[in-house]
Amino acid sequence: MIPFNPEEALRRTKREFGEHGGVAPSLSRSSTFTVMEPGIMPEIFQGVRGPDKGGCYLYSRHFNPTVNVLARYLAAMEDTEFALCTASGMAAISCTLLQLCEYGDHIVASDTIYGGTYALLDSLLPKMGIRTTFVDITDLSAVSAAVDDRTRVLYTEAVGNPTLKVADLPGLSSLAKRFGAALVVDNTFTPIVLTPSLLGADVVIHSLTKFINGASDLLGGVICADRDFVYRLMDLHHGRAMLLGPVLDPRSAFDVLQRLPHLPLRMREHGVRAMAIASRLEEIGAPVIYPGLASHPHHERLRSMINEGFGYGGILTIDCGTRDTANRLMSILQNKEAFGLIAVSLGYFDSLISNSGASTSSEIAPEDQKKMGLSPGLVRISIGYTGGLDERIAEIERAVREVGLDGNH
Ligand SMILES: *Cc1c(COP(=O)(O)O)cnc(C)c1O
Repeated sequence: MIPFNPEEALRRTKREFGEHGGVAPSLSRSSTFTVMEPGIMPEIFQGVRGPDKGGCYLYSRHFNPTVNVLARYLAAMEDTEFALCTASGMAAISCTLLQLCEYGDHIVASDTIYGGTYALLDSLLPKMGIRTTFVDITDLSAVSAAVDDRTRVLYTEAVGNPTLKVADLPGLSSLAKRFGAALVVDNTFTPIVLTPSLLGADVVIHSLTKFINGASDLLGGVICADRDFVYRLMDLHHGRAMLLGPVLDPRSAFDVLQRLPHLPLRMREHGVRAMAIASRLEEIGAPVIYPGLASHPHHERLRSMINEGFGYGGILTIDCGTRDTANRLMSILQNKEAFGLIAVSLGYFDSLISNSGASTSSEIAPEDQKKMGLSPGLVRISIGYTGGLDERIAEIERAVREVGLDGNH
């Protein structure tokens, strides 16, 4: 297999120039579109004409030219046939699962996933007759055992939030094929680093809100899949995206488009810095978890799946043991060392620091947090790339020593 290079895939995809030869693409904000002749309108409704069939647009909840350009680039990056952009990552996840599952169907999902996704699967979807069994996704026999005759989806994050467990995507893909289920992978933590479609994923989802936009100033999501699935999502009678309506605003799509060309550069730098910081913390005996470290239990698995040259991602965690120590560490990192900001979310140019159990995973009951190996003192840090790296390492080292988390304690 020729190694996939998402940076080249992005660069080589057909470039979209703006009107008047603009080097930036044009922003098409229109909600509705005219046709030259009245007879064309019913042809669009029948699907005879469309964005890729004669360049005909109808209405922006269906397809919008600017949003479609972004979708085309993201599909190239994820090596899928097509993509559909949504108003948030959660919109991408909920539309995908509602499209793939109906009343009575079943999902097998990783037990270490984003809190919002967990709540959707654990609390909301059961009210619509869609059941989920949560398993340790790294245990393929547990996945097999959880499958029943109504299982339609295997759902996982490539690198799990916030435990940084790494899913065996080729292994899950062969199970999905054997059981006739779709493998849906949330790749929000590792865009560019990992290309799940090449490892057997049927649908790849991102929250654009995180690394892909990278500026923490908008929300968005994307569903990367084959053309048929995207058209089903946009079907006028049954399409979950078309009828539930959470599509991406063209203004947000334009902003993401302008930042996508430097995503590979940013991911590389997030990764270089996360690796350097994790290595130093490990050296001083701090309880750091980062899948780029050889000591991480899933390091080899991740190494076998990544695209060469983009590192292991920008997220690391420090297990402070207790919430009290976690709070002290976060306070020093923000208020004394100015290492980063206490905030949820990730993928920003500044480091973002949060205590997962009390924030983005708080939807998961404390006893379930314990079962999935989520410590109440876990501090998740999305490593930014501002300032000098040596200074940043010195800051976090001082903070970790101050709360007694270095090996001398
Ligand atoms: C943030 C996040 C989501 C949800 O994305 P939104 O854009 O906030 O809706 C889903 N999955 C993961 C892994 C995330 O980090």
